Amino acid sequence: MTGIVVKSTGSWYLVRDLGTGQLHRCRLRGKFKNKGLKVSNPLAVGDQVEFTVEEQTEGAGVIHHIEPRRNYIIRRSVHKTEHAHIVAANLDQALLVVTLVSPATSFGFIDRFLVTAEAYSIPVTIIFNKADLYDEELAEYQQQIQKMYKRTGYPSLLTAARTGEGVAEIDALLDGKLTLLSGHSGVGKSTLINALVPDLDLKTAEISEFSDKGVHTTTFAEMLEVRPGTYLIDTPGIKELGLVDIPPAQLAHFFPEMRALLNQCRYHNCTHVHEPGCAVREAVEKGKIALPRYDSYLSMLNNEDNRH
Ligand code: GDP
Ligand code: ZN
Repeated sequence: MTGIVVKSTGSWYLVRDLGTGQLHRCRLRGKFKNKGLKVSNPLAVGDQVEFTVEEQTEGAGVIHHIEPRRNYIIRRSVHKTEHAHIVAANLDQALLVVTLVSPATSFGFIDRFLVTAEAYSIPVTIIFNKADLYDEELAEYQQQIQKMYKRTGYPSLLTAARTGEGVAEIDALLDGKLTLLSGHSGVGKSTLINALVPDLDLKTAEISEFSDKGVHTTTFAEMLEVRPGTYLIDTPGIKELGLVDIPPAQLAHFFPEMRALLNQCRYHNCTHVHEPGCAVREAVEKGKIALPRYDSYLSMLNNEDNRH
């Protein structure tokens, strides 16, 4: 049977049968190595697997094959000695939920997330939530920011999870896809999930009943079914993606508006900070690259806050 990993405890996996929609507790048979990847978990949420269920095991199954991943995101350990950990695999897209007030999400956070998603080739839509709290000034500010990201190639939506504004648009974005939902704590992710996932309590109970049998579950992501074929990955405890280690010389490649200019810099190893004949700096001065984006580039280049 073909299934998709919905939850992992490290030793047990909850697998949704793609044919019947049923959930099965599964074990992994044999050793699976992640070639060239030093990670602690062989399987992650979103992995597609082949498994069998034998009658005598009361619905528990055995995973005997993992399909190659289209992509995956890893969470690097804070302690460098520990192995990184695959958070999720086979993502179609990410939604980054941000707020301008209560709390205000920083550009630094947004741009670090976007760079990381670029590195993983995962398209991102920015969700500006809590629009119901905007006054005229904030509404105008939001439009400017939305425009800035749109010019860079990132679509966005204005929503208010609390009132239901924009929820139907998000639902349409999710359709038929596996989506990672991210954002700082307090921006409204749970409220959104509540609005998007029917019978959420039931589904969460079903999944957590399984998790309780496991050992350590806190840092593992879980996948919720919005409807068959449409899934959301919520990452409790993972406030943002771990930034992949990007060599400073390559960082600008992950800023789409800079990437287009890189072969126009005088020096091929230009860091776009102080070199003469820098096409990126020239674009910043002419207002073709937004200052907040360039500032984010500089702070990432200086390795500030990369791991938070
Ligand atoms: P999470 O930490 O990202 O999961 O955020 P929650 O969904 O728990 O929301 C944090 C707080 O913000 C709660 O008090 C929600 O009721 C509130 N909240 C969520 N969405 C909105 C919204 O669209 N507008 C307003 N005013 N409050 C919201
Ligand atoms: Zn340059």
